Amino acid sequence: MDTTYDVAIVGYGPVGQLLATLLGQRGYQVVVIERYPDIYPMPRAVHFDHEIGRILQAVDIRADTNPIIEPYDDWYEWKNAERETLLKVDWRGVGPSWWHTSNFFAQPDLERELDARARQQPTVSLRRGLTAVAVEQDGNGVTLTTETMTGAEPQAETVRARYLVGCDGANSTVRTLLGLPVTDLGFFFDWLILDMIPNEPMTFDPPAWQLCDPKRPTTIVPGGPGRRRWEFMALPGEDVNDLNKAETAWEFLQPWGLTPDNAVLERHTVYRFQAHWVDRWRSGRVLIAGDAAHLMPPFAGQGMGAGLRDVFNLVWKLDLVLRGTVGEQLLDTYGPERSPHVRHFIDVSIGLGRVICVPGLEEATARDAELMAAIADPSLAPAAPPPPRLGPGVLAEGDPQAGLLSIQSRVSYQGVEGLFDDVVGRGWFVLTTATAELALPADAQEVLDRLTGTVLRVGAPGTDSTDLGDLGDLDGRYEEWFAALGKDTVIVRPDFYVYAAIDSTKLAHALLELKSHLRTDRILQA
Ligand SMILES: Cc1cc2nc3c(=O)[nH]c(=O)nc-3n(C[C@H](O)[C@H](O)[C@H](O)COP(=O)(O)OP(=O)(O)OC[C@H]3O[C@@H](n4cnc5c(N)ncnc54)[C@H](O)[C@@H]3O)c2cc1C
Repeated sequence: MDTTYDVAIVGYGPVGQLLATLLGQRGYQVVVIERYPDIYPMPRAVHFDHEIGRILQAVDIRADTNPIIEPYDDWYEWKNAERETLLKVDWRGVGPSWWHTSNFFAQPDLERELDARARQQPTVSLRRGLTAVAVEQDGNGVTLTTETMTGAEPQAETVRARYLVGCDGANSTVRTLLGLPVTDLGFFFDWLILDMIPNEPMTFDPPAWQLCDPKRPTTIVPGGPGRRRWEFMALPGEDVNDLNKAETAWEFLQPWGLTPDNAVLERHTVYRFQAHWVDRWRSGRVLIAGDAAHLMPPFAGQGMGAGLRDVFNLVWKLDLVLRGTVGEQLLDTYGPERSPHVRHFIDVSIGLGRVICVPGLEEATARDAELMAAIADPSLAPAAPPPPRLGPGVLAEGDPQAGLLSIQSRVSYQGVEGLFDDVVGRGWFVLTTATAELALPADAQEVLDRLTGTVLRVGAPGTDSTDLGDLGDLDGRYEEWFAALGKDTVIVRPDFYVYAAIDSTKLAHALLELKSHLRTDRILQA
Protein backbone atom coordinates (compact mmCIF):
# COMPACT_ATOMS: atom_id res chain seq x y z
CA MET A 1 0.00 0.00 0.00
CA ASP A 2 2.57 2.58 -1.06
CA THR A 3 0.34 4.80 -3.24
CA THR A 4 -2.18 7.21 -1.82
CA TYR A 5 -4.73 7.87 -4.52
CA ASP A 6 -6.75 11.05 -4.59
CA VAL A 7 -9.98 9.10 -4.97
CA ALA A 8 -10.87 5.41 -4.71
CA ILE A 9 -14.07 4.39 -6.46
CA VAL A 10 -15.87 1.16 -5.57
CA GLY A 11 -18.01 -0.06 -8.48
CA TYR A 12 -17.53 0.36 -12.22
CA GLY A 13 -21.07 0.59 -13.52
CA PRO A 14 -21.95 3.73 -15.52
CA VAL A 15 -21.73 5.93 -12.42
CA GLY A 16 -18.25 4.77 -11.35
CA GLN A 17 -17.09 4.89 -14.98
CA LEU A 18 -18.19 8.49 -15.47
CA LEU A 19 -16.71 9.58 -12.15
CA ALA A 20 -13.37 7.91 -12.95
CA THR A 21 -13.26 9.57 -16.37
CA LEU A 22 -14.09 13.07 -15.13
CA LEU A 23 -11.57 12.86 -12.27
CA GLY A 24 -8.99 11.48 -14.70
CA GLN A 25 -9.67 14.40 -17.09
CA ARG A 26 -8.72 16.70 -14.19
CA GLY A 27 -5.49 14.81 -13.60
CA TYR A 28 -6.39 13.09 -10.31
CA GLN A 29 -4.90 9.76 -9.29
CA VAL A 30 -7.86 7.41 -9.18
CA VAL A 31 -8.23 3.72 -8.40
CA VAL A 32 -11.40 1.86 -9.31
CA ILE A 33 -12.28 -1.42 -7.59
CA GLU A 34 -14.78 -3.63 -9.44
CA ARG A 35 -15.67 -7.19 -8.47
CA TYR A 36 -16.72 -8.39 -11.95
CA PRO A 37 -14.09 -9.18 -14.59
CA ASP A 38 -16.14 -7.60 -17.41
CA ILE A 39 -19.05 -5.29 -18.30
CA TYR A 40 -22.33 -6.40 -16.67
CA PRO A 41 -24.28 -7.84 -19.62
CA MET A 42 -27.86 -7.85 -18.28
CA PRO A 43 -30.67 -5.71 -19.79
CA ARG A 44 -31.07 -2.54 -17.78
CA ALA A 45 -31.23 1.14 -18.82
CA VAL A 46 -32.45 2.01 -22.33
CA HIS A 47 -33.39 5.68 -21.97
CA PHE A 48 -31.75 9.00 -21.10
CA ASP A 49 -32.87 12.61 -21.40
CA HIS A 50 -31.38 15.85 -22.75
CA GLU A 51 -29.52 16.70 -19.55
CA ILE A 52 -27.78 13.33 -19.61
CA GLY A 53 -27.02 14.02 -23.28
CA ARG A 54 -25.12 17.12 -22.12
CA ILE A 55 -23.34 15.19 -19.36
CA LEU A 56 -22.26 12.53 -21.88
CA GLN A 57 -21.08 15.31 -24.20
CA ALA A 58 -18.47 16.04 -21.50
CA VAL A 59 -16.87 12.66 -22.21
CA ASP A 60 -17.41 12.93 -25.95
CA ILE A 61 -20.32 10.52 -26.17
CA ARG A 62 -22.56 12.44 -28.54
CA ALA A 63 -26.18 11.37 -28.75
CA ASP A 64 -26.61 12.68 -32.29
CA THR A 65 -23.73 10.81 -33.93
CA ASN A 66 -22.75 7.90 -31.67
CA PRO A 67 -24.02 4.70 -33.33
CA ILE A 68 -25.12 3.13 -30.03
CA ILE A 69 -27.66 5.92 -29.40
CA GLU A 70 -31.01 6.48 -31.09
CA PRO A 71 -32.53 9.95 -30.44
CA TYR A 72 -36.32 9.67 -30.06
CA ASP A 73 -38.88 12.08 -31.49
CA ASP A 74 -42.37 10.83 -30.64
CA TRP A 75 -44.91 10.40 -27.86
CA TYR A 76 -44.57 7.97 -24.95
CA GLU A 77 -48.08 6.60 -24.59
CA TRP A 78 -49.92 4.68 -21.88
CA LYS A 79 -52.89 2.61 -23.05
CA ASN A 80 -55.42 0.33 -21.40
CA ALA A 81 -56.31 -3.24 -22.35
CA GLU A 82 -58.64 -1.89 -25.08
CA ARG A 83 -55.74 0.19 -26.46
CA GLU A 84 -57.40 3.44 -25.42
CA THR A 85 -55.04 6.23 -24.41
CA LEU A 86 -54.70 6.85 -20.67
CA LEU A 87 -51.70 9.15 -20.69
CA LYS A 88 -49.38 10.76 -23.24
CA VAL A 89 -45.91 11.99 -22.40
CA ASP A 90 -44.37 14.34 -24.96
CA TRP A 91 -40.93 13.01 -25.80
CA ARG A 92 -40.66 14.92 -29.07
CA GLY A 93 -37.92 17.35 -29.99
CA VAL A 94 -34.95 18.66 -28.08
CA GLY A 95 -34.75 19.76 -24.44
CA PRO A 96 -33.15 22.79 -22.76
CA SER A 97 -29.69 21.15 -22.85
CA TRP A 98 -29.95 21.03 -26.67
CA TRP A 99 -29.93 17.21 -26.87
CA HIS A 100 -33.13 15.24 -27.54
CA THR A 101 -35.68 15.06 -24.72
CA SER A 102 -35.42 11.31 -25.08
CA ASN A 103 -32.72 8.95 -26.34
CA PHE A 104 -32.58 5.15 -26.47
CA PHE A 105 -29.55 2.88 -26.08
CA ALA A 106 -28.53 -0.44 -24.49
CA GLN A 107 -26.74 -0.08 -21.14
CA PRO A 108 -23.93 -2.59 -21.85
CA ASP A 109 -23.11 -0.61 -25.04
CA LEU A 110 -22.98 2.66 -23.10
CA GLU A 111 -20.82 1.04 -20.42
CA ARG A 112 -18.36 -0.05 -23.13
CA GLU A 113 -18.19 3.54 -24.40
CA LEU A 114 -17.65 4.90 -20.87
CA ASP A 115 -15.08 2.21 -20.14
CA ALA A 116 -13.09 3.26 -23.21
CA ARG A 117 -13.13 6.91 -21.98
CA ALA A 118 -11.98 5.93 -18.47
CA ARG A 119 -9.17 3.76 -19.86
CA GLN A 120 -7.89 6.72 -21.88
CA GLN A 121 -7.07 8.51 -18.61
CA PRO A 122 -3.45 7.78 -17.66
CA THR A 123 -4.11 8.55 -13.97
CA VAL A 124 -7.01 6.08 -13.62
CA SER A 125 -6.12 2.54 -12.47
CA LEU A 126 -8.87 -0.01 -13.01
CA ARG A 127 -8.69 -3.06 -10.76
CA ARG A 128 -11.26 -5.65 -11.84
CA GLY A 129 -11.84 -8.88 -9.92
CA LEU A 130 -11.51 -7.22 -6.50
CA THR A 131 -14.40 -7.02 -4.04
CA ALA A 132 -14.49 -4.23 -1.47
CA VAL A 133 -15.03 -5.71 1.98
CA ALA A 134 -14.00 -3.09 4.57
CA VAL A 135 -13.56 0.68 4.85
CA GLU A 136 -11.67 2.55 7.56
CA GLN A 137 -11.01 6.26 7.67
CA ASP A 138 -8.92 8.72 9.63
CA GLY A 139 -8.13 12.41 9.41
CA ASN A 140 -5.97 12.02 6.30
CA GLY A 141 -7.69 9.42 4.21
CA VAL A 142 -9.53 6.17 3.71
CA THR A 143 -8.20 2.62 3.75
CA LEU A 144 -10.20 0.21 1.64
CA THR A 145 -9.75 -3.53 2.05
CA THR A 146 -10.46 -5.68 -0.98
CA GLU A 147 -10.55 -9.41 -1.54
CA THR A 148 -9.94 -11.51 -4.59
CA MET A 149 -10.47 -15.22 -5.16
CA THR A 150 -7.41 -16.12 -7.17
CA GLY A 151 -6.75 -19.39 -5.35
CA ALA A 152 -8.62 -21.45 -2.78
CA GLU A 153 -8.37 -18.70 -0.15
CA PRO A 154 -9.45 -15.08 -0.58
CA GLN A 155 -6.46 -12.75 -0.93
CA ALA A 156 -6.80 -9.47 0.95
CA GLU A 157 -5.27 -6.21 -0.24
CA THR A 158 -5.64 -2.60 0.87
CA VAL A 159 -5.69 0.66 -1.07
CA ARG A 160 -5.38 4.10 0.43
CA ALA A 161 -7.05 7.25 -0.92
CA ARG A 162 -7.88 10.75 0.27
CA TYR A 163 -11.58 10.18 -0.54
CA LEU A 164 -13.67 7.17 -1.45
CA VAL A 165 -16.88 7.12 -3.48
CA GLY A 166 -19.15 4.07 -3.34
CA CYS A 167 -20.70 3.63 -6.79
CA ASP A 168 -21.40 0.01 -5.99
CA GLY A 169 -25.02 -0.28 -6.97
CA ALA A 170 -28.29 -1.23 -5.31
CA ASN A 171 -26.81 -3.59 -2.72
CA SER A 172 -23.94 -1.22 -1.96
CA THR A 173 -21.28 -2.68 0.33
CA VAL A 174 -19.97 0.82 1.05
CA ARG A 175 -23.42 2.04 2.14
CA THR A 176 -23.82 -1.00 4.39
CA LEU A 177 -20.35 -0.69 5.88
CA LEU A 178 -20.99 2.97 6.72
CA GLY A 179 -24.43 2.15 8.13
CA LEU A 180 -26.08 4.87 6.06
CA PRO A 181 -29.84 4.75 6.73
CA VAL A 182 -32.21 4.12 3.82
CA THR A 183 -35.82 5.29 3.42
CA ASP A 184 -37.81 2.67 1.51
CA LEU A 185 -41.24 3.48 0.09
CA GLY A 186 -42.18 -0.21 0.02
CA PHE A 187 -43.14 0.05 -3.67
CA PHE A 188 -41.87 -3.10 -5.38
CA PHE A 189 -42.90 -5.29 -8.32
CA ASP A 190 -41.08 -8.05 -10.20
CA TRP A 191 -40.76 -7.73 -13.97
CA LEU A 192 -39.34 -9.97 -16.70
CA ILE A 193 -37.02 -7.88 -18.91
CA LEU A 194 -36.21 -8.88 -22.50
CA ASP A 195 -33.78 -7.33 -24.96
CA MET A 196 -34.78 -8.39 -28.46
CA ILE A 197 -33.00 -8.06 -31.81
CA PRO A 198 -35.62 -8.33 -34.59
CA ASN A 199 -34.05 -9.63 -37.78
CA GLU A 200 -36.70 -8.16 -40.03
CA PRO A 201 -38.20 -4.63 -40.12
CA MET A 202 -40.94 -4.14 -37.51
CA THR A 203 -42.91 -0.99 -36.84
CA PHE A 204 -44.45 0.05 -33.55
CA ASP A 205 -46.90 2.91 -33.21
CA PRO A 206 -46.08 4.68 -31.03
CA PRO A 207 -42.53 3.38 -30.79
CA ALA A 208 -42.53 3.73 -26.97
CA TRP A 209 -45.59 2.75 -25.00
CA GLN A 210 -46.99 0.96 -21.98
CA LEU A 211 -49.84 -1.53 -22.18
CA CYS A 212 -51.68 -1.14 -18.87
CA ASP A 213 -53.59 -4.41 -19.23
CA PRO A 214 -54.16 -5.91 -15.77
CA LYS A 215 -53.86 -9.39 -17.36
CA ARG A 216 -50.18 -8.62 -18.14
CA PRO A 217 -48.85 -5.09 -17.72
CA THR A 218 -46.26 -4.70 -20.50
CA THR A 219 -43.63 -2.18 -21.58
CA ILE A 220 -42.83 -1.91 -25.30
CA VAL A 221 -40.01 0.54 -26.07
CA PRO A 222 -36.95 0.92 -28.30
CA GLY A 223 -33.82 -0.71 -26.93
CA GLY A 224 -31.25 1.33 -28.83
CA PRO A 225 -30.30 0.94 -32.50
CA GLY A 226 -31.38 -2.48 -33.82
CA ARG A 227 -33.03 -3.54 -30.56
CA ARG A 228 -36.45 -3.56 -28.92
CA ARG A 229 -37.20 -3.87 -25.20
CA TRP A 230 -40.18 -5.75 -23.74
CA GLU A 231 -40.90 -5.83 -20.02
CA PHE A 232 -43.66 -8.03 -18.54
CA MET A 233 -44.89 -7.65 -14.97
CA ALA A 234 -45.10 -10.74 -12.77
CA LEU A 235 -48.69 -11.32 -11.66
CA PRO A 236 -49.53 -12.00 -8.01
CA GLY A 237 -48.62 -15.60 -7.13
CA GLU A 238 -46.36 -16.12 -10.16
CA ASP A 239 -42.94 -17.66 -9.45
CA VAL A 240 -40.18 -15.40 -10.81
CA ASN A 241 -38.04 -18.47 -11.51
CA ASP A 242 -40.67 -19.74 -13.95
CA LEU A 243 -40.88 -16.30 -15.48
CA ASN A 244 -37.16 -15.95 -16.09
CA LYS A 245 -36.95 -18.60 -18.81
CA ALA A 246 -36.44 -18.32 -22.55
CA GLU A 247 -39.59 -20.38 -23.23
CA THR A 248 -41.67 -18.00 -21.09
CA ALA A 249 -40.16 -15.07 -22.97
CA TRP A 250 -41.16 -16.53 -26.35
CA GLU A 251 -44.63 -17.38 -25.07
CA PHE A 252 -45.15 -13.78 -23.90
CA LEU A 253 -43.76 -12.41 -27.18
CA GLN A 254 -45.98 -14.50 -29.40
CA PRO A 255 -48.92 -11.99 -29.41
CA TRP A 256 -46.42 -9.33 -30.48
CA GLY A 257 -45.43 -11.30 -33.58
CA LEU A 258 -41.94 -12.22 -32.40
CA THR A 259 -40.71 -15.78 -32.79
CA PRO A 260 -37.27 -17.42 -32.84
CA ASP A 261 -37.57 -17.25 -36.64
CA ASN A 262 -37.72 -13.47 -36.88
CA ALA A 263 -35.94 -12.25 -33.73
CA VAL A 264 -33.07 -13.01 -31.37
CA LEU A 265 -33.67 -13.07 -27.62
CA GLU A 266 -30.46 -11.31 -26.65
CA ARG A 267 -30.90 -11.19 -22.85
CA HIS A 268 -33.56 -11.94 -20.29
CA THR A 269 -33.72 -11.47 -16.55
CA VAL A 270 -36.16 -10.65 -13.75
CA TYR A 271 -35.72 -7.49 -11.70
CA ARG A 272 -37.54 -6.26 -8.66
CA PHE A 273 -38.37 -2.57 -9.24
CA GLN A 274 -38.01 -0.64 -5.98
CA ALA A 275 -38.05 2.91 -4.64
CA HIS A 276 -35.66 3.99 -1.93
CA TRP A 277 -32.95 6.53 -1.11
CA VAL A 278 -30.30 7.12 1.52
CA ASP A 279 -30.86 9.74 4.19
CA ARG A 280 -27.12 10.60 4.33
CA TRP A 281 -24.84 10.59 1.30
CA ARG A 282 -21.57 11.25 3.10
CA SER A 283 -19.74 9.93 6.09
CA GLY A 284 -16.44 11.77 6.55
CA ARG A 285 -14.23 11.05 3.55
CA VAL A 286 -16.62 8.50 2.07
CA LEU A 287 -19.53 9.38 -0.22
CA ILE A 288 -21.97 7.35 -2.25
CA ALA A 289 -23.51 7.89 -5.68
CA GLY A 290 -25.84 6.23 -8.17
CA ASP A 291 -27.92 3.18 -7.30
CA ALA A 292 -25.97 2.93 -4.04
CA ALA A 293 -27.78 6.11 -3.00
CA HIS A 294 -31.18 5.74 -4.68
CA LEU A 295 -33.40 3.34 -6.58
CA MET A 296 -36.51 4.05 -8.60
CA PRO A 297 -38.75 2.00 -10.89
CA PRO A 298 -37.71 2.50 -14.54
CA PHE A 299 -40.97 3.90 -15.98
CA ALA A 300 -39.54 7.39 -16.48
CA GLY A 301 -36.14 6.04 -17.61
CA GLN A 302 -34.28 8.12 -15.02
CA GLY A 303 -32.43 5.80 -12.58
CA MET A 304 -29.02 5.84 -14.26
CA GLY A 305 -29.53 9.48 -15.19
CA ALA A 306 -29.91 10.34 -11.51
CA GLY A 307 -26.59 8.60 -10.81
CA LEU A 308 -24.82 10.49 -13.61
CA ARG A 309 -26.23 13.74 -12.20
CA ASP A 310 -24.82 12.74 -8.78
CA VAL A 311 -21.40 12.47 -10.39
CA PHE A 312 -21.66 15.83 -12.12
CA ASN A 313 -22.67 17.45 -8.82
CA LEU A 314 -19.91 15.73 -6.87
CA VAL A 315 -17.01 16.05 -9.25
CA TRP A 316 -16.66 19.85 -9.22
CA LYS A 317 -16.92 19.86 -5.44
CA LEU A 318 -14.29 17.13 -5.05
CA ASP A 319 -12.12 19.06 -7.50
CA LEU A 320 -12.27 22.25 -5.40
CA VAL A 321 -11.61 20.30 -2.19
CA LEU A 322 -8.75 18.25 -3.64
CA ARG A 323 -7.16 21.41 -5.06
CA GLY A 324 -7.40 23.00 -1.62
CA THR A 325 -9.46 25.93 -2.88
CA VAL A 326 -12.34 25.11 -0.58
CA GLY A 327 -12.66 23.34 2.76
CA GLU A 328 -14.00 19.80 2.86
CA GLN A 329 -17.32 21.02 4.36
CA LEU A 330 -18.33 21.79 0.77
CA LEU A 331 -18.94 18.04 0.41
CA ASP A 332 -21.75 18.40 2.98
CA THR A 333 -23.80 20.12 0.29
CA TYR A 334 -23.72 17.11 -2.05
CA GLY A 335 -26.45 14.98 -0.43
CA PRO A 336 -28.82 17.82 0.55
CA GLU A 337 -28.65 19.21 -3.00
CA ARG A 338 -29.12 15.89 -4.76
CA SER A 339 -31.71 14.36 -2.47
CA PRO A 340 -34.82 16.44 -3.40
CA HIS A 341 -33.82 16.26 -7.06
CA VAL A 342 -33.70 12.46 -6.89
CA ARG A 343 -36.96 12.43 -4.92
CA HIS A 344 -38.59 14.31 -7.79
CA PHE A 345 -37.75 11.49 -10.19
CA ILE A 346 -38.62 8.78 -7.67
CA ASP A 347 -42.04 10.38 -7.19
CA VAL A 348 -42.60 10.74 -10.95
CA SER A 349 -41.51 7.11 -11.50
CA ILE A 350 -43.78 5.82 -8.75
CA GLY A 351 -46.66 7.91 -10.11
CA LEU A 352 -46.18 6.20 -13.48
CA GLY A 353 -45.71 2.85 -11.73
CA ARG A 354 -49.08 3.26 -10.03
CA VAL A 355 -50.64 3.60 -13.48
CA ILE A 356 -49.22 0.38 -14.88
CA CYS A 357 -48.48 -1.90 -11.92
CA VAL A 358 -52.17 -2.74 -11.55
CA PRO A 359 -52.93 -6.46 -11.83
CA GLY A 360 -56.59 -6.25 -10.62
CA LEU A 361 -59.48 -5.74 -13.06
CA GLU A 362 -61.54 -3.58 -10.70
CA GLU A 363 -58.65 -1.27 -9.87
CA ALA A 364 -57.72 -1.06 -13.56
CA THR A 365 -61.28 -0.11 -14.52
CA ALA A 366 -61.32 2.69 -11.92
CA ARG A 367 -57.89 3.89 -13.12
CA ASP A 368 -59.04 3.91 -16.75
CA ALA A 369 -62.13 5.95 -15.91
CA GLU A 370 -60.10 8.51 -13.96
CA LEU A 371 -57.33 8.93 -16.55
CA MET A 372 -59.68 8.99 -19.55
CA ALA A 373 -61.84 11.62 -17.84
CA ALA A 374 -58.70 13.74 -17.40
CA ILE A 375 -57.89 13.38 -21.11
CA ALA A 376 -61.43 14.42 -22.06
CA ASP A 377 -61.38 17.34 -19.62
CA PRO A 378 -57.83 18.53 -18.84
CA SER A 379 -59.11 20.54 -15.85
CA LEU A 380 -59.54 17.16 -14.10
CA ALA A 381 -55.90 16.22 -14.70
CA PRO A 382 -53.52 16.58 -11.75
CA ALA A 383 -51.22 19.61 -12.06
CA ALA A 384 -47.87 18.85 -13.69
CA PRO A 385 -45.12 18.64 -11.04
CA PRO A 386 -42.77 21.63 -10.89
CA PRO A 387 -39.38 21.10 -12.58
CA PRO A 388 -36.79 19.19 -10.56
CA ARG A 389 -34.71 21.48 -8.37
CA LEU A 390 -31.59 20.99 -6.28
CA GLY A 391 -32.05 21.15 -2.53
CA PRO A 392 -30.27 23.60 -0.21
CA GLY A 393 -26.56 23.98 -0.85
CA VAL A 394 -24.43 26.19 -3.07
CA LEU A 395 -27.40 28.23 -4.27
CA ALA A 396 -28.39 31.88 -3.85
CA GLU A 397 -30.90 32.10 -1.04
CA GLY A 398 -34.44 33.13 -1.90
CA ASP A 399 -33.75 33.09 -5.63
CA PRO A 400 -36.60 31.29 -7.46
CA GLN A 401 -34.27 30.28 -10.31
CA ALA A 402 -31.50 28.91 -8.08
CA GLY A 403 -31.18 25.14 -8.33
CA LEU A 404 -32.89 24.87 -11.72
CA LEU A 405 -31.13 23.58 -14.82
CA SER A 406 -29.59 26.14 -17.19
CA ILE A 407 -29.66 25.77 -20.94
CA GLN A 408 -27.18 24.94 -23.67
CA SER A 409 -27.44 26.13 -27.24
CA ARG A 410 -25.30 26.92 -30.26
CA VAL A 411 -23.03 29.94 -29.94
CA SER A 412 -20.27 31.73 -31.75
CA TYR A 413 -17.22 32.32 -29.58
CA GLN A 414 -13.80 33.60 -30.58
CA GLY A 415 -14.60 32.89 -34.22
CA VAL A 416 -15.81 29.33 -33.68
CA GLU A 417 -19.43 28.16 -33.89
CA GLY A 418 -20.82 25.19 -31.99
CA LEU A 419 -22.47 24.05 -28.80
CA PHE A 420 -21.59 26.13 -25.75
CA ASP A 421 -19.68 23.38 -23.92
CA ASP A 422 -17.72 22.47 -27.04
CA VAL A 423 -16.56 25.95 -27.95
CA VAL A 424 -16.48 27.72 -24.57
CA GLY A 425 -15.88 24.86 -22.14
CA ARG A 426 -17.19 23.93 -18.69
CA GLY A 427 -16.88 25.58 -15.30
CA TRP A 428 -18.35 28.57 -13.48
CA PHE A 429 -19.86 31.16 -15.81
CA VAL A 430 -21.46 34.54 -15.39
CA LEU A 431 -23.66 34.98 -18.46
CA THR A 432 -25.03 38.45 -18.95
CA THR A 433 -26.99 40.45 -21.48
CA ALA A 434 -26.18 43.70 -19.67
CA THR A 435 -24.55 46.23 -21.92
CA ALA A 436 -23.01 48.39 -19.22
CA GLU A 437 -19.53 47.38 -18.13
CA LEU A 438 -19.52 45.00 -15.16
CA ALA A 439 -16.82 46.52 -12.97
CA LEU A 440 -16.34 44.09 -10.09
CA PRO A 441 -14.70 45.11 -6.81
CA ALA A 442 -11.51 43.19 -6.03
CA ASP A 443 -13.08 40.88 -3.43
CA ALA A 444 -15.88 39.79 -5.82
CA GLN A 445 -13.41 39.38 -8.69
CA GLU A 446 -11.24 37.23 -6.44
CA VAL A 447 -14.11 34.78 -5.90
CA LEU A 448 -14.44 34.39 -9.66
CA ASP A 449 -10.68 34.06 -10.10
CA ARG A 450 -10.41 31.35 -7.45
CA LEU A 451 -13.18 29.42 -9.15
CA THR A 452 -11.61 30.12 -12.55
CA GLY A 453 -14.99 31.54 -13.48
CA THR A 454 -15.59 33.45 -16.72
CA VAL A 455 -17.85 36.41 -17.46
CA LEU A 456 -19.45 36.25 -20.91
CA ARG A 457 -21.70 38.81 -22.50
CA VAL A 458 -24.42 37.11 -24.54
CA GLY A 459 -25.77 38.89 -27.59
CA ALA A 460 -26.95 38.43 -31.14
CA PRO A 461 -24.30 36.87 -33.41
CA GLY A 462 -21.78 39.36 -34.68
CA THR A 463 -21.86 41.49 -31.55
CA ASP A 464 -18.72 39.98 -30.08
CA SER A 465 -16.69 43.14 -29.89
CA THR A 466 -16.22 44.05 -26.23
CA ASP A 467 -13.51 42.88 -23.89
CA LEU A 468 -15.86 40.60 -21.95
CA GLY A 469 -15.22 37.55 -24.10
CA ASP A 470 -18.50 37.70 -25.92
CA LEU A 471 -20.83 35.02 -27.08
CA GLY A 472 -23.07 35.11 -30.15
CA ASP A 473 -26.47 33.55 -29.47
CA LEU A 474 -26.85 31.72 -32.80
CA ASP A 475 -30.39 30.41 -32.35
CA GLY A 476 -31.79 33.10 -30.05
CA ARG A 477 -32.34 30.53 -27.29
CA TYR A 478 -30.27 32.42 -24.72
CA GLU A 479 -32.30 35.55 -25.48
CA GLU A 480 -35.53 33.57 -24.88
CA TRP A 481 -34.11 32.13 -21.68
CA PHE A 482 -33.10 35.51 -20.26
CA ALA A 483 -36.54 36.87 -21.18
CA ALA A 484 -38.17 33.98 -19.27
CA LEU A 485 -35.87 34.54 -16.27
CA GLY A 486 -36.70 38.25 -16.21
CA LYS A 487 -33.07 39.00 -15.24
CA ASP A 488 -30.07 40.10 -17.26
CA THR A 489 -27.40 38.03 -15.50
CA VAL A 490 -27.08 34.38 -14.50
CA ILE A 491 -24.38 32.62 -12.50
CA VAL A 492 -24.14 29.03 -13.72
CA ARG A 493 -22.36 26.25 -11.84
CA PRO A 494 -20.07 23.66 -13.46
CA ASP A 495 -22.89 21.07 -13.25
CA PHE A 496 -25.09 23.35 -15.43
CA TYR A 497 -27.39 24.38 -12.54
CA VAL A 498 -28.24 28.02 -11.88
CA TYR A 499 -26.57 29.48 -8.80
CA ALA A 500 -28.44 32.80 -9.15
CA ALA A 501 -30.40 34.81 -11.70
CA ILE A 502 -29.94 38.50 -10.87
CA ASP A 503 -29.79 42.04 -12.15
CA SER A 504 -26.23 42.78 -13.21
CA THR A 505 -26.00 45.52 -10.57
CA LYS A 506 -26.22 42.77 -7.91
CA LEU A 507 -23.41 40.65 -9.36
CA ALA A 508 -20.74 41.64 -6.82
CA HIS A 509 -23.11 40.96 -3.95
CA ALA A 510 -24.07 37.57 -5.44
CA LEU A 511 -20.42 36.56 -5.84
CA LEU A 512 -19.63 37.45 -2.25
CA GLU A 513 -22.62 35.43 -1.11
CA LEU A 514 -21.36 32.56 -3.28
CA LYS A 515 -18.07 32.74 -1.41
CA SER A 516 -19.84 32.13 1.88
CA HIS A 517 -21.94 29.32 0.35
CA LEU A 518 -18.80 27.61 -0.82
CA ARG A 519 -17.49 27.95 2.71
CA THR A 520 -14.35 29.31 1.16
CA ASP A 521 -13.67 31.88 3.87
CA ARG A 522 -10.84 29.95 5.49
CA ILE A 523 -8.80 29.50 2.33
CA LEU A 524 -9.77 32.53 0.27
CA GLN A 525 -8.83 34.84 3.12
CA ALA A 526 -5.57 33.04 3.81
C1 LIG B 1 -34.94 -3.21 -16.02
C2 LIG B 1 -34.24 -1.91 -15.76
C3 LIG B 1 -34.45 -0.86 -16.62
C4 LIG B 1 -33.83 0.35 -16.39
N1 LIG B 1 -34.04 1.37 -17.27
C5 LIG B 1 -33.43 2.55 -17.07
C6 LIG B 1 -33.56 3.58 -18.04
O1 LIG B 1 -34.20 3.42 -19.08
N2 LIG B 1 -32.91 4.75 -17.81
C7 LIG B 1 -32.14 4.94 -16.70
O2 LIG B 1 -31.59 6.05 -16.54
N3 LIG B 1 -31.97 3.95 -15.78
C8 LIG B 1 -32.58 2.77 -15.94
N4 LIG B 1 -32.37 1.75 -15.08
C9 LIG B 1 -31.47 1.97 -13.92
C10 LIG B 1 -29.99 1.78 -14.25
O3 LIG B 1 -29.76 0.51 -14.82
C11 LIG B 1 -29.19 1.93 -12.96
O4 LIG B 1 -29.62 3.11 -12.33
C12 LIG B 1 -27.68 2.00 -13.22
O5 LIG B 1 -27.16 0.79 -13.67
C13 LIG B 1 -26.96 2.38 -11.92
O6 LIG B 1 -25.59 2.49 -12.18
P1 LIG B 1 -24.54 2.37 -11.00
O7 LIG B 1 -23.21 2.55 -11.64
O8 LIG B 1 -24.95 3.24 -9.88
O9 LIG B 1 -24.71 0.89 -10.44
P2 LIG B 1 -24.43 -0.49 -11.18
O10 LIG B 1 -24.61 -0.35 -12.64
O11 LIG B 1 -25.24 -1.50 -10.48
O12 LIG B 1 -22.90 -0.75 -10.93
C14 LIG B 1 -22.41 -1.07 -9.63
C15 LIG B 1 -21.11 -1.81 -9.80
O13 LIG B 1 -20.54 -2.01 -8.51
C16 LIG B 1 -19.97 -3.29 -8.44
N5 LIG B 1 -19.89 -3.71 -7.04
C17 LIG B 1 -20.91 -3.90 -6.18
N6 LIG B 1 -20.44 -4.22 -4.96
C18 LIG B 1 -19.09 -4.25 -5.06
C19 LIG B 1 -18.04 -4.52 -4.13
N7 LIG B 1 -18.30 -4.83 -2.85
N8 LIG B 1 -16.77 -4.46 -4.56
C20 LIG B 1 -16.49 -4.15 -5.86
N9 LIG B 1 -17.45 -3.89 -6.78
C21 LIG B 1 -18.73 -3.92 -6.37
C22 LIG B 1 -20.93 -4.14 -9.26
O14 LIG B 1 -20.32 -5.33 -9.71
C23 LIG B 1 -21.31 -3.20 -10.39
O15 LIG B 1 -20.46 -3.33 -11.51
C24 LIG B 1 -32.98 0.52 -15.27
C25 LIG B 1 -32.77 -0.55 -14.40
C26 LIG B 1 -33.39 -1.75 -14.64
C27 LIG B 1 -33.11 -2.89 -13.71
